Amino acid sequence: MIRRPIFAANWKMNKGPSETEDFARALLPHVQHQTFPCDVVIAPPFVSLAKAAEMFGNVTSVALAAQNCSQFDAGAYTGEVSAMMLREFYVHYVILGHSERRAIYGETDEIINAKMKKAREVNLKPIFCIGETLEEREGGKLEEVLRRQVTKGLEGFSEKDMADTVIAYEPVWAIGTGVTATAAQAQEAHAFVRSLIGENFGADTAARIRIQYGGSVKPNNAAELMACPDIDGALIGGAALEAPSFLAIIQNGTAA
Ligand code: PEP
Repeated sequence: MIRRPIFAANWKMNKGPSETEDFARALLPHVQHQTFPCDVVIAPPFVSLAKAAEMFGNVTSVALAAQNCSQFDAGAYTGEVSAMMLREFYVHYVILGHSERRAIYGETDEIINAKMKKAREVNLKPIFCIGETLEEREGGKLEEVLRRQVTKGLEGFSEKDMADTVIAYEPVWAIGTGVTATAAQAQEAHAFVRSLIGENFGADTAARIRIQYGGSVKPNNAAELMACPDIDGALIGGAALEAPSFLAIIQNGTAA
């Protein structure tokens, strides 16, 4: 089974519309009229989605993601953005369950599952983030945490939903810290997550689902991580803020 790798830039709360335009101008010559052996996704903040859609709308090699969506359809939810609204911006993916949303905004597995279901109702593809804290890893709880996040976050998902879902394994201790999981640590966790998908959804779905690694991926470590058999791309924060390093990660990661 050959899985198509997927490289996604998570800009977090960086780059308004004008910086989005600058990034697009730097990236466009390298992605326009190009085909990649992978999917390339950019997740700007909500307010920059319109600019990103304007800049990348005709570029078939680049897809857009949102960084979050509401678990509700519409109504009195000040500050929130629904999954349906995102469809108007040519958004195809939505990042859900990111550790920053879990830790800073108190998103529980149940809330994340409700968001995952809303995303699927409007045919958005979730990039579903999971991962353990350092304390959980050192306390021998890695598998317990991943099992809980996978089981609860994907509760009620059909085979079709799973075909349109990407998982991002992101050890919290590696996000934005410059500390990357070793290839062996990442591979071990990815293989375990794939086995969990097998338990819950069957061997076919497990073999097909793409599992990205996230956590301080840089141009100089992408090749080693992407060479692991169960790693199918990367979710990239800091190193995806500049077009050249995002491109270098894609190039080094797909040459593996
Ligand atoms: C992330 O935010 O998902 C992430 C992996 O960030 P960084 O690459 O900066 O560690």
